[in-house]
Amino acid sequence: MQHQSKLPHVGTTIFTVMSALAKEYNAINLSQGFPNYPSSQKLNDFVTKAMNNGYNQYAPMAGNLDLRLAISNKYQLLYDSTYHPEKEITVTAGATQAIYTIISAFIRANDEVIIFKPAYDCYQPAVEINGGKTIPIQLSAPDYKVDWNEVASKISPKIKMIIINTPHNPSGMIWSKDDMLQLQKLTKNTNIIVLSDEVYEHIVFDGEKHQSVCLFNDLKDRSFITASFGKTFHNTGWKIGYCCAPEALMAEFRKVHQFNVFSVHHPSQKGIADYMQDSETYLGLNQFFQQKRDLFLNLISESRFKFNPSKGTYFQVLDYSEITDENDVDFAKRLTKEFGIASIPLSVFNENNKDDKVLRFCFAKTPETLKKAADILNQV
Ligand code: PMP
Ligand code: GLN
Repeated sequence: MQHQSKLPHVGTTIFTVMSALAKEYNAINLSQGFPNYPSSQKLNDFVTKAMNNGYNQYAPMAGNLDLRLAISNKYQLLYDSTYHPEKEITVTAGATQAIYTIISAFIRANDEVIIFKPAYDCYQPAVEINGGKTIPIQLSAPDYKVDWNEVASKISPKIKMIIINTPHNPSGMIWSKDDMLQLQKLTKNTNIIVLSDEVYEHIVFDGEKHQSVCLFNDLKDRSFITASFGKTFHNTGWKIGYCCAPEALMAEFRKVHQFNVFSVHHPSQKGIADYMQDSETYLGLNQFFQQKRDLFLNLISESRFKFNPSKGTYFQVLDYSEITDENDVDFAKRLTKEFGIASIPLSVFNENNKDDKVLRFCFAKTPETLKKAADILNQV
């Protein structure tokens, strides 16, 4: 039998490749983004309680209502922004499913979607499998600033969607209020939908404020926000997330969601809803991760790696140009095999694999692991 691949250029993701290599060489794994400490006992207990209390059959298609209420309350509390729990919030199987479903609900053959590179790896294949085409805008190390004149020059009637991501994986940069105002201005009087991937909204450092699309009224009207409880509550394996959007957009989203997923793991949803009643569970994360960032950076301050401290996410990019001129994929592999530390090379997320000689390290790790990792990096 013969078939033609719908995604001929797609192989295994770099996260899977580097995590497998880390395992094979018994290396410290700072590549794929996941914590190496346990999920909260209190949260685990709430999920267990939900199972024992009978939350074991299908959740409503849009998600457990207690959880949607808790999410709605969070937007009110943090951004003074209203999302109706019944009509404007849907619980998904992680942010990945929300992103995929948003794209399939709106992107048709030959539609164009602007993405900013380095871009998280799930955006482009989702656009392409739906017959669309991505229009890349390459940002440059070390500050990954957006040139809004370039964005303006790429806007055309073919652009159906713009995908943004702040705080940004993999660079650790955040968008400013001015960036959001520029985006709002450029999309005004268009039919462009904005997909705002905000999975790291609770991980922003140095007293900065997360600039959610929901803070900007015109932007909010055309935007989906995607979010991940895996990132927020230290359990990436649970794969629960959600998205928010104005009612008319959400109605289209649900037409697809009900046939590709219908509803997601019910006891986790109820457990998370109970856990979120205490807002400290998410408000404390900025400080929690800032301590980890600062510990990691202090420990490697004498190394030959150069860096600007990450402004958000639980990733730090390190420039190795003073160490070697090897390409970043080769160097990341060699660091894993010969030095015992795994990271993610940034070129895989760039246009034409642009190589700025930077690697991404995940610092969502115990102090002991960060110490061991730093000991290695200081010797490279
Ligand atoms: N977007 C970004 C920027 C991410 O880093 C990730 C990985 N957490 C996702 C989306 C996917 O999130 P999830 O694991 O909830 O599917
Ligand atoms: N979001 C995780 C990261 O950026 C990876 C998730 C995955 O392996 N697909 O490292």
